[in-house]
Amino acid sequence: MKGYPTRIKRVIENLQKLPGIGVKTAERLAMSLLRRSKKDSIELAQSIKDMVENTKYCSKCRNFSETDICDVCSSPNRDKKVLCVVEQPEDFFAIERAGEYRGLYFVLHGSISPIEGIGAEELGIDYLVKRVKSEGIKEVIIATDPDVSGEATAIYIARLLQDSEVVVTRIALGIPAGGHIGYADEITMVKALEGRRRIILE
Ligand SMILES: [Zn+2]
Repeated sequence: MKGYPTRIKRVIENLQKLPGIGVKTAERLAMSLLRRSKKDSIELAQSIKDMVENTKYCSKCRNFSETDICDVCSSPNRDKKVLCVVEQPEDFFAIERAGEYRGLYFVLHGSISPIEGIGAEELGIDYLVKRVKSEGIKEVIIATDPDVSGEATAIYIARLLQDSEVVVTRIALGIPAGGHIGYADEITMVKALEGRRRIILE
């Protein structure tokens, strides 16, 4: 990045902090921000600022929301006895886009990973269990990713709930193993939810 004026260098360095953006892409993006209309680039900067300043976690499902309780959690049209557990907000929105699911959600913002130091506490699993018990949830659908940590998380939650009345199910493997829920197309998502099975613990 040598040779760039200070302000441009700063933008390149900030862009590089984003996932999947290396130095070359960061340079290209910074140049394109300067080449396009000033108005468009300023609109981009302001929309990021506005989003970051005005987005919080829904106090019920932990998804990103502009209000204390998100639209899904506060909707009278949702089935409040079914709760779908997902890893990321992207997964929440992917299931919503598929349009079939009518229950509520819980967003973990990750999955259990001892190597990265992510455990039940970081994922809010205590709060999840408390919610399931206090709200009289009848079914918990676990829609974590079909990879090692997603499966470990599913089993962990199923174990915590095995003494309660709630039925714990796992979405079907229409989602490719090792894949991400959030990238599934809508038909795959609907099939994965329809084909869910009860988790049987040994
Ligand atoms: Zn919510």
